[in-house]
Amino acid sequence: MSFSLDDLLITPGKPADLKKRDPRETFGFDKDKAPDELEKLNTKLVDLQTRLAAEAGQSLLVVLQGLDASGKDGTIRHVFSGVNPQGCSVTSFGAPERSELAQDYLWRIHRSVPRKGQIGIFNRSHYEDVLVVRVESLRPEKVWRARYRHIREFERMLVEEGTTIVKIFLDVSPEEQLARFTERVEVPEKQWKFRSADLEVHKKYDEYRAAYEEALTETSTDLAPWYAVPADRNWLRNLAVSHILVDTLKKMDPKYPEPQVDAAAIAELKAAKAD
Ligand code: ADP
Repeated sequence: MSFSLDDLLITPGKPADLKKRDPRETFGFDKDKAPDELEKLNTKLVDLQTRLAAEAGQSLLVVLQGLDASGKDGTIRHVFSGVNPQGCSVTSFGAPERSELAQDYLWRIHRSVPRKGQIGIFNRSHYEDVLVVRVESLRPEKVWRARYRHIREFERMLVEEGTTIVKIFLDVSPEEQLARFTERVEVPEKQWKFRSADLEVHKKYDEYRAAYEEALTETSTDLAPWYAVPADRNWLRNLAVSHILVDTLKKMDPKYPEPQVDAAAIAELKAAKAD
């Protein structure tokens, strides 16, 4: 069994309709087969990334968003294992610092977009500026609402200048989120992840999901689409994200540049050595 990326795509111009999406969905995939499948996808990802770096003409920006404990860190760890670290950057966006607050909200984002030839992964992003900012009432509605338009236009500019953008929403259920928070309290190796604010965030699950619903609907575009990935099962989540990335990179079709090999010079050197 396999799934089509259309199952995950938030179709531009249509409501995201998150209530129709099930965070526990498996699309008929078999968990036992997932490791092999993931390895195959990983091999493809590594090859495509090598080409992207060699070509050095276009870049890929992967925006990862999701509620707390939706598995953003785990996704990065699994999906990008084996990828050359020199060709990738991960930027995590937390609450803006004073110096960042003194600028417009896209300033810190823009300076972190990947260079040509690179894959840039955003662990949280400018979308926090229409999500947490909305739910926690950090700015008035008039301010965050105008940002949907800024974001669409900003992303259009990036795409037209050679950055491919793919945006992934990790969709975790409230039950699974609570189970993961509980694990953070109970398992000593996970306690470092626990923040008391987690519980407050959990209480606001519905508000966050509603904010996501609107943000995804407003900003999934043909140029920079959103995908909603069911995130209650880690193995399915990793598989789906790998699929999306491999598919996106294939469409980018990065190519090795024309070789500039001077065969005659090499032959001359070899001949000189042999003398
Ligand atoms: P994570 O939860 O992703 O592992 P952190 O514990 O550092 O990482 O949490 C980052 C926090 O920063 C989140 O609570 C997130 O909502 C917040 N944050 C990110 N961007 C913004 C922003 N633009 N404005 C306010 N808060 C933000």
